[in-house]
Amino acid sequence: MSSLKDISGNSRKLNDNYEDNNYLNLSQEDKINKISSNFKEIMLTLGLDLNDESLKETPNRVAKMYVQELFEGLDESKMPDSSLFPNDYSYNSMLVEKDIDLYSICEHHFVPIIGKAHVAYIAKDNIIGLSKINRIVRYFSKRPQVQEKLTKQIVDALKLILNIEDVACLIDAKHLCVNMRGVKDAQSSTLTAVYSGKFNEDNIKQEFLQYINKN
Ligand SMILES: [Zn+2]
Repeated sequence: MSSLKDISGNSRKLNDNYEDNNYLNLSQEDKINKISSNFKEIMLTLGLDLNDESLKETPNRVAKMYVQELFEGLDESKMPDSSLFPNDYSYNSMLVEKDIDLYSICEHHFVPIIGKAHVAYIAKDNIIGLSKINRIVRYFSKRPQVQEKLTKQIVDALKLILNIEDVACLIDAKHLCVNMRGVKDAQSSTLTAVYSGKFNEDNIKQEFLQYINKN
């Protein structure tokens, strides 16, 4: 039986050398100091003047932002608690939480992924607080990501927490690595969808897509 930690422990744990990473056990403060000095090197290498009042604090600002905000979801202690409520009304139709704001960072280029996540499930014994769905999306977004993996992690987490199979997640997002560099296509966005259980049935899938206006 897998646990939320298994879902959470993204691809890094598949690498045999992962445990050799000496930085894993650094405190938050040590991580910030380390990233700050490394980011300073990047800025100096780019030829920036670190004596400039406006740039002086940037390495420290970036390091804090990485550790405390943008990549907070790498810290497993930040995993949202997943309190459930009994499904007293036996509501066993589809529940859709749509247009969840999504901000993540592309793990290939370290620039933002910005979009919306739409999540649905069909409840059995328990239901989950609506804001918990948003928190799960946010938790997995706050780490370097690829959209396919993020979509799957959200579905796997909900399946596990609710002990159900019938879960769907569709993400529609802009990748700034596509929009502002490379092919510089400002309009394009990327859609990924993971359907589990009944959501593989055409009528259920269509109902979901209809709710989120994507059919
Ligand atoms: Zn990218």
